[in-house]
Amino acid sequence: MAKRAKLGQRVLVSFGRRRTTGFLVSFHEKLDPRATKAIQEILDSQSVFDENLLRFTHWIADYYLCPWGDVLKAALPAGITLDEKRRWILEALPKGDKWREYCHRHPDARRIVETLSSGPLTSESLRRKLRASRLPLEVRLLREAGIISLRPVLLPPRVKSKMEAIVSLAEEKASEDWEKLLADLETRSEQRILRDVLEAGPEGILRTELLKGASSVRRQALGKLLAKRLLQLRLEEISRWDPEREKAPEIVTPTQLTQAQEKALSRILPLLSAEKFKAFLLYGVTGSGKTQVYIEAIKEVLRIGKTALVLVPEIALTPHLWARFHAAFGDRVAIQHSAQSPAIRHDLWRGILRGDYPVVIGARSAVFAPLKKLGLVVVDEEQEATYKQEEADPRYHARDAALMRAHLERAAVLLGSATPSMETLYQVRQGKYELLTLPERVGGSVLPQIAIISRKQEDVKEVAPLSDELVTEIQAILTSGDQAILLQNRRGYAPFLMCRRCGFIPGCPDCAVSLTYHRRGRNLRCHYCDKREDVPDACPRCSSPDLAYEGIGTQRLEEELALHFPQARLLRMDLDTTTRRGAHGRMIAAFAAGEYDILLGTQMVAKGLDFPGVQLVGVVSADTELFHPDFRAAERGAALLTQASGRAGRRERVGRVLVQTFAPEHPIVKTVCEQDWLGFAEQELQRREAASFPPSARLVLVRFSGKDESKVARAALRFRSLLKSEGGVETLGPAPAVLYKLRGKIRYHLLVRSLRTRDESGATLRRAVKQARDEFHRTHAEAGVEIEIDVDPVGIA
Ligand code: ADP
Ligand code: ZN
Ligand code: ZN
Repeated sequence: MAKRAKLGQRVLVSFGRRRTTGFLVSFHEKLDPRATKAIQEILDSQSVFDENLLRFTHWIADYYLCPWGDVLKAALPAGITLDEKRRWILEALPKGDKWREYCHRHPDARRIVETLSSGPLTSESLRRKLRASRLPLEVRLLREAGIISLRPVLLPPRVKSKMEAIVSLAEEKASEDWEKLLADLETRSEQRILRDVLEAGPEGILRTELLKGASSVRRQALGKLLAKRLLQLRLEEISRWDPEREKAPEIVTPTQLTQAQEKALSRILPLLSAEKFKAFLLYGVTGSGKTQVYIEAIKEVLRIGKTALVLVPEIALTPHLWARFHAAFGDRVAIQHSAQSPAIRHDLWRGILRGDYPVVIGARSAVFAPLKKLGLVVVDEEQEATYKQEEADPRYHARDAALMRAHLERAAVLLGSATPSMETLYQVRQGKYELLTLPERVGGSVLPQIAIISRKQEDVKEVAPLSDELVTEIQAILTSGDQAILLQNRRGYAPFLMCRRCGFIPGCPDCAVSLTYHRRGRNLRCHYCDKREDVPDACPRCSSPDLAYEGIGTQRLEEELALHFPQARLLRMDLDTTTRRGAHGRMIAAFAAGEYDILLGTQMVAKGLDFPGVQLVGVVSADTELFHPDFRAAERGAALLTQASGRAGRRERVGRVLVQTFAPEHPIVKTVCEQDWLGFAEQELQRREAASFPPSARLVLVRFSGKDESKVARAALRFRSLLKSEGGVETLGPAPAVLYKLRGKIRYHLLVRSLRTRDESGATLRRAVKQARDEFHRTHAEAGVEIEIDVDPVGIA
């Protein structure tokens, strides 16, 4: 086994009482038998991680304070690791009569046995299939009777390579004369098959192709030729990903770069072959030609024999983007997006590993793409919060990880944005990243005119979602045959239901947030845990029937628009309408093709999309962005409004933007109007510095959650007491989280912070948190409290 073992292979090891997938990460000459596990099997013939990826994933584990194994697993496509879990298995049924007798005594037994007859199940899925709230007692009785058992079962990976049989001329016959080979054959069918194989060339031909619609005679003839060893059969891995099947609209490839593009490239290109890390910020509004700069830089990367990785937010992985890269790089580029099946993602990953695709485009997790000789990493819309994985370990930020990967592999990084993050601008100010600017839109189209519509004078209670000004502008768009986008960053019908008499607002019992009213289904829904409740006829607290819908969601807006403009073709885009695989891409394509007049929706409609027909953008309520209890709220709100207004008036004409707000003098609203992002950033960076928040400081968020509030609070306090306050490490809290209760669990936060001036790399901060965590686990007293650690948290709700 030692001879076959290579660094970066997957292996099967026993771990505790079960077996699981492990990774070969280093070799040692001597071993300590007590600290070593025997490898049972090597699962790969080739390495799935090279040395660079091992170093990179190790850095992520170290930086984000999570297990290396979790990072390695996250770096692989889903469904290929082997894991042993305890599962219920059907052992042996008693013989006929005995079994009938048993069922007579235990009427429920048959259903359980039948459920297990199709394969092993975990306790959880057995319970679910039996539609029981807990495992029935009968399960235990069946186990005691030896009819079923609970034991570790190794299940095969869910996704495997697709192998195809290929027929070719046997090697020994390669030098023989074809005519002679053909003449020696007895039947016409054999001759025809041999001719087909010979004509396909030395690589051979797929067996399925050779036998497409074949008669049994032809099938038998192939069998005979194989038996005679004139032909041979081999298995080859086939990719189920077919670039031709990705949708690609017609596009025009620019023939000449603009001056600004040339200037940016003149800084980037020389560095690509320099074998050293260097980061650029490419700052320019949407439509200023950033994507074209990426494409030109990648051409140079390929020319010098290196590879390139392009990260974009999931939402920007559109057919349009694909068309541009495909036109530039043909079959050397691969794209990963969420509409692809696990099998296709798997094959893509295998293809990248083999070196078939030197250019890879994808969302967050593509940062782990197994590219070799990396020359350039592009992170488009680098400010996007979706680059941060928040739900589970590793809680990494794909932009920051990309920077580190490039650093380790001595590659260049190109961060692109119309509204760069404070983190990136901070590095620019420190002189660490170079700023490149594309000051205007390609073709010189002018920036939109922005008008603020104050809704302050009106009666708050009765205010209509659409102001007269907005209605007039929409009417004008419909008359001229242009398109409009309306942003309302709240889904559902009305954000909440409120009793006009006592002010009661129905909330989710598990998640301390108000329930959102959904018109369809006429129910109230929790947007965190999806709990649904019927709308009450009267206030549950004071019994008043005077319940009112407050605020507007996208559903309500859609209805309002339909009332005002019955002839308009409306397209609503939010989480509720885009859950189906591929739905989002289809909507974008349909709107771009002019099948709708108005696109309305949540933040999704504001991001990185290019619709030339849009002349009007309406921000229905800017206020939903302005007041959030988070230190990044101002940046996020300003970015969203800036991006939304950037949708209006591409190409020759001046577009219009209307922003409705109750707070017209708010600094964010001013930023948007003046279209001065760098000016806003200057102030925002000062504010962050004054308040000791990132990027001037470093943060780690420690989250405690559990059912029992006093235990959760105690755990948080104990964690704080374990933190060493050396090197300027300090704590904020613990305090109940903004989202105080989620899915029935109480949540507390502890923020741990250090200042950049004293802890530039954040190493002191991370060491302190790590020590506290290890100590916390060692002396575990707070059972039933989970802790999660989020390094560089993006949202602190
Ligand atoms: P961004 O990535 O900043 O949004 P793009 O690169 O997508 O900008 O450019 C916006 C539009 O302008 C695209 O339709 C693109 O094809 C076109 N374009 C980009 N560069 C040029 C150029 N040099 N000449 C003509 N058209 C260009
Ligand atoms: Zn809930
Ligand atoms: Zn009431």
